[in-house]
Amino acid sequence: MEDTKPLQPPTRIAWEQFFATQARVMALRSTCTRLSVGCVVVRDKRMIASGYNGSIAGDVHCTDVGCRIVDGHCVRAIHAEQNALLQCAKFGVSTDGADLYVTHLPCLNCTKSLIQAGVARVFYEKSYRPDPYAKELLEFAGVEVIQVDSSMNSLCENFMEAQ
Ligand SMILES: [Zn+2]
Ligand SMILES: [Zn+2]
Repeated sequence: MEDTKPLQPPTRIAWEQFFATQARVMALRSTCTRLSVGCVVVRDKRMIASGYNGSIAGDVHCTDVGCRIVDGHCVRAIHAEQNALLQCAKFGVSTDGADLYVTHLPCLNCTKSLIQAGVARVFYEKSYRPDPYAKELLEFAGVEVIQVDSSMNSLCENFMEAQ
């Protein structure tokens, strides 16, 4: 048996853009009106968990009753990264050495959590209130931080290049 020649050049989406796109889709489930954030945790090119920012299970949603603001922050919403990591804790899935894809640069608290959970690389799309101490901790812990672009323009450009 012989492999047939492909009829068209490859137009597959790259893994980085694929998972970044999944994170953007997760953000569509966000229930906090302040910012829509989505996140997926990946190991061996498989998504092992996902999360978005919103209230704890069963609680009211910011989108229904407004945010609960203390000191300028919404205290109701659990951040997307925390939700994804806690999903792993709940179901007993290891996050050691995992990649984390998130729509926005993680905040300081999420940064500390993901470092402690053993995340090896963070892929983010948008820079959002970059925290100098978070950056310092990521460098100290040897976590790679990589910006990705999964915008429709960038996906189309990649497809065009492959033609
Ligand atoms: Zn909120
Ligand atoms: Zn956070």
